[in-house]
Amino acid sequence: MRFHKAESAFFVFIALVLGAGALLFFAYGILRTNANAVPPIGDPEQLSEFGRLIFTTGVLLATATVFGLFFIYPLIRTQVREEGKLRAMTRSLSERSESLEHAALTDGLTGTQNRRFFDGALREYLREFGRIQKPIGLMVLDLDHFKQVNDTHGHDVGDEVLRQVAACLRDMTRYHDVVARLGGEEFAIVAPNMSQQALVKLAERIRTAISNLSIESGNVRLRVTTSVGLAIWDGKETADEFYRRTDKMLYQAKRLGRNRVCA
Ligand code: GH3
Ligand code: MG
Ligand code: MG
Repeated sequence: MRFHKAESAFFVFIALVLGAGALLFFAYGILRTNANAVPPIGDPEQLSEFGRLIFTTGVLLATATVFGLFFIYPLIRTQVREEGKLRAMTRSLSERSESLEHAALTDGLTGTQNRRFFDGALREYLREFGRIQKPIGLMVLDLDHFKQVNDTHGHDVGDEVLRQVAACLRDMTRYHDVVARLGGEEFAIVAPNMSQQALVKLAERIRTAISNLSIESGNVRLRVTTSVGLAIWDGKETADEFYRRTDKMLYQAKRLGRNRVCA
């Protein structure tokens, strides 16, 4: 078995202190045998032995103190410093991995969740809310004629529209609703624990709010509209099947003339 430097130093320190203790014990023995001596001075040879013991004890204790101060203490300090550095490194690594994870699940342009997060969240919500038999609603939204916005006003204005639409969706949903940008100008909202009627009302409110957004670019103000497909989970279908059914509703909203909700 190999000992660390600090451990060996500690054993030496303990040996020195124990040695000093043993010497003190002998000295105490001498003191006791001479305590009742007549005359009280006692045996001079034993007395000088006593003196030697006390002196050696002092030397051992002084050595232990010097050893502790100049060898063990610096070792401990180094160790504490190294541990601090390690802890800081671990912290920064875990912060980095958290921020990487955040980036991997967030849409860079709008700050909403991204498709990857949406896929996982929908599956998890179906599992959890299905277990307690609460309804789960899904909305898929797609901006109408968005290509025209880009073509007419430029891509940067298009990006600004996407950011404002995303902010509007976040404002109008609850804390536990999932708002995600699925890609391009398509968003989705997972809204658990809401009846179909309440969900249709919410979708209508969102559709109206988006059509009322007034997005400024230079000296033009532009408006956008959105089509919404909506469905409530039937309790049996998979996340993919649920999404595809909702997407069909969106397709229908587009077919019927856009800027409307189809459930
Ligand atoms: P529809 O009403 O049928 O949905 O028509 P649309 O023009 O919205 O649909 P289409 O799929 O033809 O065009 C979508 C456009 O969205 C094409 C692309 O230029 C634009 N787009 C996709 N991603 C981005 C983006 O990140 N930023 C911007 N500015 N535009 C994007
Ligand atoms: Mg579109
Ligand atoms: Mg689209």
